[in-house]
Amino acid sequence: MVDENGSIRTLSVDIGGSGVKAMVLDITGNPVTERARLDTPQPATPEVVINAIVVLAAAQGEFHRVSVGFPGVVRCGVTETAVNLHPDWIGFDLETALLKHLNKPVRVINDADMQGFGAIAGKGVELVITLGTGFGSALFVDGKLVPNMEMGHHPFRKGETFEQQLGRAELEKIGEKRWNKRLEKAIASLEHLFNYDCLYIGGGEAVRVNLQLPLNVKLIPNITGLLGGIALWRDEKR
Ligand code: BGC
Repeated sequence: MVDENGSIRTLSVDIGGSGVKAMVLDITGNPVTERARLDTPQPATPEVVINAIVVLAAAQGEFHRVSVGFPGVVRCGVTETAVNLHPDWIGFDLETALLKHLNKPVRVINDADMQGFGAIAGKGVELVITLGTGFGSALFVDGKLVPNMEMGHHPFRKGETFEQQLGRAELEKIGEKRWNKRLEKAIASLEHLFNYDCLYIGGGEAVRVNLQLPLNVKLIPNITGLLGGIALWRDEKR
């Protein structure tokens, strides 16, 4: 299961509420293809999203295994929540379904968790939030993940959750200026709650962050979500 250079290639896939993205990584985690993207088909049932992944995969050339970041709770390859996709995802065995379609080993984790793997330094308490359709979060202690943290659905202010106050729908409603003010409040509240060494802010809307950020808060490019896919296989010998 190796390419012409003797190296295993990983197809990394990021399923989002508005786009499905894919890219192939070499054994060290460096991209070997351009990132490709399709709009997330609507309604975003497992069937149509899997079809989109199959289309993206076919255009990515050779790969030997597949990493997937999914926008919901994932346990043992089964998707347990999918607030921004479709209720049919609840209890869906995505790992097995993709294995059948792509005929390659597959590992699936939460999208913010995967994004975190692409961003962290692996030391101390590192928190990751992703700003996109939804609000993703991931917590790492010395590089070890606390999976499926789901802070997005917890109260933030005015009886609303982080996702209700800072998700894309709200950004479009209230505009960048107010959204940035809220984000500033969210960062302050997360700092007091987690006392993190570093906070990373990623996701498709991170480009709209327009704040003077403290030194321990870093913006990360959205492609980090795909780069994190290599970490899902680090227990493999090669
Ligand atoms: C989901 C999270 C996900 C986040 C970003 C939230 O609605 O519950 O699991 O990480 O959106 O996609």
